[in-house]
Amino acid sequence: MSMLFPFDNSYARLGAGFSAGQAPVQVSAPRLIAVNDALAAELGVSLGSDDEMAQVFGGNALPGGAQPIAQAYAGHQFGGFSPQLGDGRAVLLGEVVDTNGQRRDIQLKGSGPTPFSRNGDGRAWLGPVLREYVVSEAMHAMGIPTTRALAAVSTGDPVYRQQGALPGAVLTRIAASHLRVGTFQFFAARQNVPALRELYAYTRARHYPQAQTPGDLLRAVIRRQATLVAQWLGAGFIHGVMNTDNTALSGETIDYGPCAFLDIWHPQTVYSSIDRNGRYAYDNQARIIVWNMAQFASALVPLMEDQESAITEFTEAVHAMPALIDAEWLRVFGAKIGLAAPDENDRALIDDLLRLMQVAEVDFTNTFRALGRPDAPAALMGTAGFDAWEARWQARLTSEDGWRARMDDANPAFIPRNHRVEEMIAAGVEGDFAPFRRLLDVLSRPYVDQPDAVDLTLPPAPHEVVRETFCGT
Ligand code: AMP
Ligand code: MG
Repeated sequence: MSMLFPFDNSYARLGAGFSAGQAPVQVSAPRLIAVNDALAAELGVSLGSDDEMAQVFGGNALPGGAQPIAQAYAGHQFGGFSPQLGDGRAVLLGEVVDTNGQRRDIQLKGSGPTPFSRNGDGRAWLGPVLREYVVSEAMHAMGIPTTRALAAVSTGDPVYRQQGALPGAVLTRIAASHLRVGTFQFFAARQNVPALRELYAYTRARHYPQAQTPGDLLRAVIRRQATLVAQWLGAGFIHGVMNTDNTALSGETIDYGPCAFLDIWHPQTVYSSIDRNGRYAYDNQARIIVWNMAQFASALVPLMEDQESAITEFTEAVHAMPALIDAEWLRVFGAKIGLAAPDENDRALIDDLLRLMQVAEVDFTNTFRALGRPDAPAALMGTAGFDAWEARWQARLTSEDGWRARMDDANPAFIPRNHRVEEMIAAGVEGDFAPFRRLLDVLSRPYVDQPDAVDLTLPPAPHEVVRETFCGT
């Protein structure tokens, strides 16, 4: 085997309470769909032949040094607490320290049942695997912290879902870690304070070495999550399943189940078929992340000697979060209209634009991209109120240098549009991966105009509009 992974498996060393040893379960006929060469190089992983990669990334062959485990975690799902979730269809092969000195997890997702599978089959079908591959790589290219995709393999085995028999697949996911809010909740719920202490020390060492106390850790995670959610809002991204087990302590976007990008800006947009009350609607994301951080705070309390004062301190940290998100939102949306240092007076300018966009039902991504460009017609041009708005904006821009370039770097020309993602999956199911490859290629340069990919900038035609997305299960 020519494939080499410089594994160093610190999570496995934490011992039995944190994970269960679990090898990936064999598949019938693994075939490599895609591998991310640039990411492999960054990780210091040397790749092999397509056949070897299909075996390894399909879960049939364990590379040297791998110590496959399923991680234990708990989590609030749609507000209800499940004390035991865990990797039900994923195994962590191990960790590598990458060429930048960062420790990264290498995980197979869809690799078969584990002790945490409950009634699930431990598998993934091709659709969610291709979606996560494309969307996570697109998010990365847009500069949004995210888990990455290293490889996708089809298994040759059917997976049975509501739609019937579907082709099975395995995704190799790379993450700064798979530590979640739910990982702390797992031990807090069991009042296992020694394990919680170990987890705290581990998290601190791995992600927040400057944190001196659990309060410091909480505030640091809150800062990263505030930045992350503001970036989601700026990209029109709706995660769709912001359960506490899907909130990574690293601040990376994780779990691309029913995610989607809004076509038209509307604050209450929901796509996920299981999000009946809009808990995870576009605009609610900024509130739900605060709720999730409150759950994280609760799970940290048992670490504290003086719990009374810890509760006071942690509550203050959580209460400070909405203002942090607001500030990040202003920075993100300020840049989208060309402002380097937006101030509170600019909030109304941005809000008014969003309202105009909502009323006119214009495409969110394209409107921002076209704004102020002589060569591209702004979708809002000629709509009621736009002229007056534009005059205010132009007046504001007179004190901004370089606004044009700033806007081009803040407003993607290309996002993984829902209808294109669905189309790409439908082709993949038929064995045609050309749309998948094309999306990956174009979306790797989201801020660059690509004249031969203009079709990928088009909003959906009425019959192409995606109204509902489904969990990756
Ligand atoms: P998710 O909605 O993907 O965040 O998953 C929530 C929980 O359900 C996690 O514990 C998953 O590992 C588990 N899970 C999701 N899909 C499956 C499946 N097909 N088989 C077993 N467990 C699953
Ligand atoms: Mg999950």
